[in-house]
This record gives sequence, C-alpha cells and structure tokens, in this order.
Amino acid sequence: MLNGIPVSPGIVIGKVLLLDSRISAVPKYKINKDKIVREIIRFTRAISKTKRELIEIQRKFIDKVGKTHAAIFDAHLLMLEDSSLIEETIEQIRDKQFNVEFVFSRILGKATKSFSDIDDEYIKERAADINDVGRRVLKNLLARKHIDLSNLKERVVLVSHDVSPSDTAQMDKNKVIGFATEMGGRTSHTAIMARTLEIPAVVGVKDITQKVITGDTIIIDGVKGAVIVNPSSSILEKYLKKRADIKLLERRLSRLKNVRADTLDGQKIQLAANIESQDEVHSIIAHGANGIGLYRTEFLYLNRNDIPSEEEQFNAYKFVTQKINPQNVVIRTLDLGGDKFISKLGTPKEMNSFLGLRAIRFCLKQPDIFKTQLRAILRASHYGNVSIMFPMISGLSEMREAKVIVETAKNELDRKNLPYDRNIKIGAMIEVPSAALIADMLAKEADFFSIGTNDLIQYSFAVDRVNEKISYLYRPNHPAVYRLIKMIVDAANEADIPVSICGEMAGVPASVLALLGLGLFRFSMASVIIPEIKKLVRHVNTNDARKVAKHVLKLSTGKEADRYLISRIKKIISRAEIEVYG
Ligand code: PEP
Ligand code: MG
Repeated sequence: MLNGIPVSPGIVIGKVLLLDSRISAVPKYKINKDKIVREIIRFTRAISKTKRELIEIQRKFIDKVGKTHAAIFDAHLLMLEDSSLIEETIEQIRDKQFNVEFVFSRILGKATKSFSDIDDEYIKERAADINDVGRRVLKNLLARKHIDLSNLKERVVLVSHDVSPSDTAQMDKNKVIGFATEMGGRTSHTAIMARTLEIPAVVGVKDITQKVITGDTIIIDGVKGAVIVNPSSSILEKYLKKRADIKLLERRLSRLKNVRADTLDGQKIQLAANIESQDEVHSIIAHGANGIGLYRTEFLYLNRNDIPSEEEQFNAYKFVTQKINPQNVVIRTLDLGGDKFISKLGTPKEMNSFLGLRAIRFCLKQPDIFKTQLRAILRASHYGNVSIMFPMISGLSEMREAKVIVETAKNELDRKNLPYDRNIKIGAMIEVPSAALIADMLAKEADFFSIGTNDLIQYSFAVDRVNEKISYLYRPNHPAVYRLIKMIVDAANEADIPVSICGEMAGVPASVLALLGLGLFRFSMASVIIPEIKKLVRHVNTNDARKVAKHVLKLSTGKEADRYLISRIKKIISRAEIEVYG
C-alpha cells in the first residue's frame, strides 16, 4: 500500500497504464523467455534513435560554431557503434531476463562509476561522456509514448510522474477511471479537473512509477489517499464493499437534488458549481447546483494550436448561459499561467510561474486577446444571467484598468449594434493577500467578490500549491486563512456587495462549518460535492457556526484548527458518512 494526497473522491479498481517515468524512475521487472527478442529490439531502436538525435545536434552545432568543436559528437556516436556497454546489455537481457531499461541503467551506472573513480581528468571526462550518451538512450527507452488520452481502447487507471491540467482536460472519463501521480497538490488544476470529471485520484504518491507496471491491478482510494498495487483477495473484497457503500451514499444524497440548502435556522445558502468546460453543464444540473460560481474559461485555450475566436467563445458561453438561465453564470476571464500554460500565446516559462505574468496581468498586457474574450462574454450575457469576474486582482489599478477595457469592448459592440446586458455585474476574485488587505477599497470598484482560497492560501503561506513536498504547509483551516477571509467578508458586508467563495475549501465540510460562521453564505464547488455539502448545511445552525468560527480565529496552529473543526463536524454528520467521505 502506498500513500498520497487524496484529491478526488471515490474508489476505483482497475488495470494500470503507466504513462511515463523520469529517468531516475527506471522500472524493474522480469520478462518471459519469449519477450527477450522484443526487449533487444527495443534496445536497438533506442540506440538508432539516439544516433539520429546526435547527428542532428552535431549538424546544428556545426552550423553555429564550426566543425572543430563538433568532434565531441563523433566520440559520442562511436560509443553507440561498438561498445561493451551495448554488448553487455544484450547479453544480460538474455541471461538475467530483466527489462532492458533496468539492465542498461545498471551497466551504465557501473561503467560511469569505474571511470570516474580513476584519478585522471581525461578519463573523468570520458565518464561524463558515457553518462551523457547513456542517459540519452535511457530517455528514449523510457520516452513517453504519445498516448492519446481522449481515445483509449480500454478502461485504465493512469499512473504517471505528473499529469498536466491539459492532459486531464483531454481524458475520456469512461476510459480513464482513476489516476495516481508522484507530483501535485490538492489545489493543482490537475486535481481540480479530476474532481470536476469525477475521476478518483491520488497525487503525491512517492516513486509510484517505479512500483507499478502497465497491466498491474491497482486500487485508488480517492477518499483516504491510499493506492494499493496487486491487492490480496481480502483487501480487494474490503474495497469492493467500500465502493458499494459510497455508491449507496451517493444515491441517498442524490435525493437532496431539489431541496433547498437552508440552515436549520432558515438562512438561505447558495451552492453553485465550478466548471472548466461547457460539457459539464449536464452534471451541474444533475447535482442540483444554484448556478455557476466560477467558469474557468482558460480551458478553452488549452490543447490547441490557435487562440479561440470571439465566435467560438461566444458560442461556448452562450450555450452555458442558456442552459443555466435564469440562474447566474460567473464567467472568469482568462487565467493562464501558474500550472496552466499555452505556448501559442507565447507565455514564456518563468522561474516563479505562479508569481509571474499570469491571469489579469497577462490580459492587461494583451488587450486584444482580452477584449476578444470580453466581447464574447458580453454578447453571451444577452441570453441569460451573466457576470464577469477578473482573476488575480492585486490592487485597485488593475481593477480599474480591466473595467476600462470592458467599457471599450462594450463600445465596440455598440458600434456593431450587437446586444448585451448593459447592467452586467463585474466582480473581483480575492486571491492575493494584498487584495484581501484592501478589500474595503476594492469593494467600491467591484460589484461582487469571490474568494479564491486556492491561491490565497498559496500566496499567504508562500507555499506552491502544486508541490507535494511542502503540502504539509498548505493548511486551509489555519486561523491565518480565516482571519483573511473574515476581513474580506466584513468589507463586502460593509459595502453591501455579495461575497462568495470558489476555492476548494468551499467543498470541504469542516471548512464550510467555519465559513458559515464567518457569514459566508454563497459557495461554489465541483458539482459532485454539492449534495454532500447541502446535507451538511441543512444540519447546521448559524449561531453554532458563529461560535465555531469565533473559536477557530483564536487558535494558534492549523493542526489545532483541523482537530477542532473535525471534532465539531463529527457531531453534525453521521458516523457512517465520515467513514465514507473521510
Ligand atoms: C482559487 O485560486 O481559489 C481559484 C478558485 O482559482 P484557480 O483554482 O483556478 O486558481
Ligand atoms: Mg486562483
């Protein structure tokens, strides 16, 4: 059993498809006699590919700096011609019957070490050469075969070092039934997508790519964060029962679809949905969401070689707006950057991508791209109830500048006589600490606030939200987070503008209890979580929640707050559900 960070609930049992591994993650497995030839062919193909690459690099090098310095590549190529490395690898595949990458990496390691142990600069350099060439061969052996995730033939559980948000966006959820990765955090966009697509997932599972091979049986427990490889029959039985329990609970919760999410004392609570694509509209309706609190439009821009036109965007936004009408759709303008890249827009990879030219900063620098999107949103607003929201606002001037561009977009539509909602509301995401600190001033410029705790926590604690190594510092229930949220809610109430929360905290029962106590009554989350949160809310009295929040604000550590909130929530949710949902 391996452990990681649970990011998308549910239990799946299936066959592994190992997507890729880093060079350090060389798999080791026995091969049958009849697979020996196939392993040797894989090896010779990797060698030929490496040769072709080296020749190409050499050619470019000669073009750049001339022939004299390019001789090193001849030496490298020679190593791939006749080398004891190659012969020994083939021999050992035959004798020991292990997979080629394992055999080759061991031989390479030994050869490099024996050369580098010799006290001679020239020989030491040759060790570096062998290592260099050897790693190229290994890379080609381990190269991620391009697997089209939208077109898999069988149902699989993906295992990979990392899965990007754009990979996730392509997944066919009927085929990819679960996944486990070595990298990632609970609020990475890959995790968020998994929840949206209702694919159980665990991230941050150390070295999992070294511990499984394609075809292994695997259990993903997206509630507890456990991953079990080739389980015994008793473990399998236990998880089959657990899976059935979850299904039963989901069926029971689905009966709440049409009931209101009022608290015990009658406070109306809005539970809206977060979406990443227009395809999710049906799931939102099925889960009984009150509108869309966050439409992450950047996913329209990923996995393609061009920028979506105004018309294409208009059609997507209009479709969602009409389906959700008369309920509100909050369309967030482009939030690229961080863990969401798109090469076509020329966003350079930055050292600190989450702190870089992303979201509203990028849009203000590219007013044409921004205006195209704004025109599309405005045009869609004619067909229902739409609001515009800007991501990553860090201060007043960004908010003002963005609003000026909205006015320009409106004028352009006026000139073409295209209709739009003239009273469209414009809101700010509060997800940068500086914005939280001046929320009272921003409230004068914004028609509403939506608190993006995923980023707010990341920036407040200086903890990268996608880095599993420091995920222990990423603590949504830390009193510091609640103090910031309280500032934002108080400022919004003072200015009499609506405030909601659309970060992942909005879908975590223990956090929801404290948030209700701080006076937050509008939540937006992955639609799959809505029934569970609705059930909770209906068992809460806002007076009790206020007492809980007051207590949390005075605690000194995140751990204390976690313990306290979980003990309070246990009193509200029945034991059975805690057991299932964790
Ligand atoms: C957030 O930061 O909390 C948020 C909802 O936006 P995203 O997760 O897309 O950054
Ligand atoms: Mg954000």
